[in-house]
Amino acid sequence: MAVKTKKAVPIGRQAATKKSNTIKLKFDTSWTYAPAPESKSAATINKQYDLFINGEWQKPLSKKYFDTINPANEEKLSEVADANAADVDKAVKAARNAYEKTWKKMPAKERAKYIFRIARIMQEKARELAIIESLDGGKPIKESRDFDVPTAANHFFYYAGWADKLEYAFPNRTTEPLGVAAQIIPWNFPLLMAAWKIAPAIATGNTVVLKSAETTPLTALKLAEIIQEADLPPGVVNIITGAGATGAAMVNHPDVNKIAFTGSTDVGKIIQRSIAGTDKKATLELGGKAANIIFEDAAIDQAVEGVINGIFFNQGHVCCAGSRLYVQESVAKEVIRKLKDRLESLIVGDPMDKNTDIGAINSKSQLDIINKYIGIGKKEGAEMYQSSCRLPGKGFFCRPTLFTNVAQSNRIAQEEIFGPVLAILTFRTEDEVIEKANNSPYGLSAGVWTDKGSKIFNMTKRMKAGVVWANTFNKFDPTSPFGGYKESGFGREGGLHGLLPYLNLKS
Ligand code: NAP
Ligand code: MG
Repeated sequence: MAVKTKKAVPIGRQAATKKSNTIKLKFDTSWTYAPAPESKSAATINKQYDLFINGEWQKPLSKKYFDTINPANEEKLSEVADANAADVDKAVKAARNAYEKTWKKMPAKERAKYIFRIARIMQEKARELAIIESLDGGKPIKESRDFDVPTAANHFFYYAGWADKLEYAFPNRTTEPLGVAAQIIPWNFPLLMAAWKIAPAIATGNTVVLKSAETTPLTALKLAEIIQEADLPPGVVNIITGAGATGAAMVNHPDVNKIAFTGSTDVGKIIQRSIAGTDKKATLELGGKAANIIFEDAAIDQAVEGVINGIFFNQGHVCCAGSRLYVQESVAKEVIRKLKDRLESLIVGDPMDKNTDIGAINSKSQLDIINKYIGIGKKEGAEMYQSSCRLPGKGFFCRPTLFTNVAQSNRIAQEEIFGPVLAILTFRTEDEVIEKANNSPYGLSAGVWTDKGSKIFNMTKRMKAGVVWANTFNKFDPTSPFGGYKESGFGREGGLHGLLPYLNLKS
């Protein structure tokens, strides 16, 4: 349990300084939390990982490995195989073989048992998975422990339940799996994205080749160990590691029936071009620039907390992050003051500390992108406020940042930054804010804060976003579909809707 102490002000909880561009607020810094680091000893990380193909660990034909580091201290954690096109081919062959000979023939209720077993083992190993997720990706342990890992296990539980009930999901239709699914995931929710992809695919009778992101391969490899322990028939799930070229080889493999991709809009467009003219099916879950809207009748403190959670959760490495805040003019001053106060109290630092609110940025290149956008915001004439916290000397960290006086046309209001940077804009009327919020190439999610139910219904109807949260933000549940409009992609993951992209419906 965290203990109050009178010791020196630690990283992330420092008194406000008088530097220009930082917040000049007075805070009670006479107490803080003692460090409460999670122990690394509860996790086993091998020195080297091969590829998980056909139920066993196989050396890469490429003979190449690359390092994965801890972004909080830049130390090497392990090295993983760099799969080339020949490795991809081997994995796809294993998946095809398992599909034809075993998985599609197996009664659905038997398939479900394996998936339940995976979910249960994930729960048993929850602590280890959370530790590895935070070490490899930089997210605070309280998030990987309380959100990523339990939600990932819940996806396996949820889709295990659907496996033998597809006739109820799609009444009066017969369903048929697609075959082999190539699944490519990003680095912001490595285990959760793997669960989002694998659980519905195998529940509907498909087999899988999944590639994790270059900087965060370790929890997907732990999941491979769990799948092995669950005795899933060999080849049903193959987990490989590699960079963009590995993903491209998966997309272009002729024996793949379905591509499930989560990542940037740019790579999504490349994938769409690559599969044009083929009969491969695809779901693309891409970028976002969510509008979070506060009306004057909202519960302001609750809304401020929601905005903080919406953009600073997971260092802003969230496709649906509420990175554009629209505040009704009459309450703008109050909201901005409260946001600055709250910004200053956020604890930035060691992801393994249970008190940390904002951990490490996932990679040096992502930190460079975020810093580039902070520079662009300043150049565009917006006013910047940053927390005055002291950042750790090593690793990739960024102060939580907000910009006021932002114009709708500014790049920081239009482009995805994927970091802890909030752009604040104001509005007067409902029509105006809908116009502004929808004026974006993206349409993944949005948030509305108001006391009036009728306003919520009006807004949700008119907002072009796949998810609209009302008086909350960033809430996820395996039963709810998730996906975008416009350049945020197409197809839905989660819920009953998440079954459809893995099935052909007949008659
Ligand atoms: P990214 O660069 O598009 O990478 C995503 C995945 O694709 C990685 O595994 C990457 O491998 C791989 N890849 C790269 N080039 C490829 C190619 N030509 N063909 C096939 N695969 C390729 O995205 P990211 O920077 O990792 O992730 C951040 C982006 O993901 C943000 O834009 C965010 O909004 C989006 N995102 C969307 C959702 C959603 O549900 N809509 C959820 C999470 C994240 P490497 O890692 O080795 O480069
Ligand atoms: Mg890493």
